[in-house]
Amino acid sequence: MMQRLSAEKLLAVWEEHWRQPPLRQGLALLAAANPEEHPETLLGLSMGTFNARLLTLYAWCFGATFTAVTTCTGCGELIETTLNAANLCASHSDPPPWLEVVDDAGVVRFRSPTLGDLIVAGEATTLDAASQTILARCLETPTRSLPPATLAAVTGAMEQADPLAAIELDGACPHCAQPWSAALDVAAFVWRQVHQWAQRTLQEIHLLARAYGWSEDAILRLSPGRRQAYLQMIYG
Ligand SMILES: [Zn+2]
Repeated sequence: MMQRLSAEKLLAVWEEHWRQPPLRQGLALLAAANPEEHPETLLGLSMGTFNARLLTLYAWCFGATFTAVTTCTGCGELIETTLNAANLCASHSDPPPWLEVVDDAGVVRFRSPTLGDLIVAGEATTLDAASQTILARCLETPTRSLPPATLAAVTGAMEQADPLAAIELDGACPHCAQPWSAALDVAAFVWRQVHQWAQRTLQEIHLLARAYGWSEDAILRLSPGRRQAYLQMIYG
């Protein structure tokens, strides 16, 4: 079972992983929130399950709604979309262990890409090489080269079985009505929020420690409401 992260724990994860790539940072957050699960198990999560768990953790830490920002390709204005983590995850379920596509040459068996696959693919130097790596790891018989139509069917089946693996947002620009679409990179988004929270929290610790002489531990143990109340007294 996933657990909520205390302020101390969240700050410790941020401190240890802030230089790492987003998928590793997401893995570190889930590892801290799932202390009973072996890291190997977490690497075996489908990308949709990984994203769903990160969004749940996000909601626990920062609230259920969040704003995603993109830039309009038509007029260059910023477009903000408000999303709800629970709504995004509502229809999620773990993909089946194996998927199948039947073509002229027979049955192709494969599984949904996992966090581990994406982390390994992230070390590839080109997008094409990354796709090849993922496919090689997910096909039951990895040496077989697939005709384009079969490859498209395999990719389509992967997307359908695990829709939260790639979250596409779309709408119309409120300024010029140009349609827009953007991918939500869940791990990068969640970490950005963790980073901003950590900066804010360290600043608050600094102010309270200087004013009252309290230790970092003692300040972190204050509830957010009580911490804000003391900060307001400092500012008068
Ligand atoms: Zn626009």
